[in-house]
Amino acid sequence: MIHNTIKHLPKLHQIILGVSGVLLILMIFWPSDEAEASRQVRAIELIPGMQYELPMPVFEPSAAIDDAVFEAENYITHKVSRGDTLAKIMSKHKQSPQTTYKLDNAGEYARTLRRIRPGDSVYLQINEAGQLVSLKYPLSNTETLMIKAQDTDFVSSIETKQVETSLNFAQGTIQSSFWNAGIAAGLTDSKIMQLAGIFGWDIDFAQEIRPGDSFNMAFEELYVDGEFIGYGDIVSAEFINQGDVFTAIKYTDGNYYTPEGRSMRKSFLRAPINFSHVSSNFNPKRFHPVQKRIKPHRGVDYVAPVGTPVMAAGNGKVIRSAYDRFNGHHVFIQHGERYQTKYLHFTRRAVKEGEWVKQGQVIGYLGSTGMVTGAHLHYEFLVDGVHRNPRTVELPKADPIDKKEKDKFLLIADKQMSLLENNKRIMLAMQ
Ligand SMILES: [Zn+2]
Repeated sequence: MIHNTIKHLPKLHQIILGVSGVLLILMIFWPSDEAEASRQVRAIELIPGMQYELPMPVFEPSAAIDDAVFEAENYITHKVSRGDTLAKIMSKHKQSPQTTYKLDNAGEYARTLRRIRPGDSVYLQINEAGQLVSLKYPLSNTETLMIKAQDTDFVSSIETKQVETSLNFAQGTIQSSFWNAGIAAGLTDSKIMQLAGIFGWDIDFAQEIRPGDSFNMAFEELYVDGEFIGYGDIVSAEFINQGDVFTAIKYTDGNYYTPEGRSMRKSFLRAPINFSHVSSNFNPKRFHPVQKRIKPHRGVDYVAPVGTPVMAAGNGKVIRSAYDRFNGHHVFIQHGERYQTKYLHFTRRAVKEGEWVKQGQVIGYLGSTGMVTGAHLHYEFLVDGVHRNPRTVELPKADPIDKKEKDKFLLIADKQMSLLENNKRIMLAMQ
């Protein structure tokens, strides 16, 4: 919102502006005249196939271990409390120290019992003579430590349950916001974030989502013994943003590709801020290109609460991390030889000059320092020293899938695309 500040400058400044306008305008609009000097920073290479982390919560299946199942098999449930040890548990259930000793020495797996955690459950099967017959200690939804009496000793093993995966579909059309549409489609918070994460290199979810945009996706549901234990990955998804269709298919390497086999992952994120923080996605005032009316505007403004984390749009080197009265706390990043990104008005900076940063890394926190009318992130994107619109600028093409994998991928993509299409037809018929 630097563009708004000229009007609000005090009288004295307006006079100076008249007298030595060029100089002041340079200071306001070209706050980074050191850019030239920093262009000889050496090229940064993205490592193909490397996972660049995004600040995206990954869903972990919840530990839904069912006491009732064990109790039905005549197991006694012992809830592990703070300070409980195997010895304490055994003595509580009237087992001899010898039994405890034998349990502890029941093989490699039994050592897990030395690290039992408060809140966990240990299940004990004790015969009519009061002797321990077996012990079960669930380690996860799918793995359970089993210790069974055998002659006068105990033997341990790990029981592994099969996780069954089934596909489910969701579809939504945006009316008020992407978040609301996701919730209405039955998605969890983390699924909504994952979906935005998959398309975060193509779509600015913070500002470019419009009513009428839509999504359609297939995702995994995980079951053990017929019981739902959690969600798996998004397998394929389509997002239509202002008429542009984006499609992503997950491959066996865990990455997402377009149906033609180009990586969804690119060298720059469309928005350096997580959409869920950006207020009023559909504020009509910001709906219309306010920025285009007030010229010249050299960046994109994201309005969000003070303290919202701001991410590096791409891998690069911090060439400036400083404070001045116009830009407030600001950070500039050089990406290879041609690209530079600038982030202004932080309340606090999180990186130092000379530091190398990765895409998605937090570099500062949104604020209202410098010449601003309110808290926001002012974001600029420069190509060969020229300001460009980060939402529409042509970016380097993403890496295609490995040649050796391409045929296999295309088969998967074909199948996924028809599943998505099929779901669309079904949902349409239901309306
Ligand atoms: Zn601005």
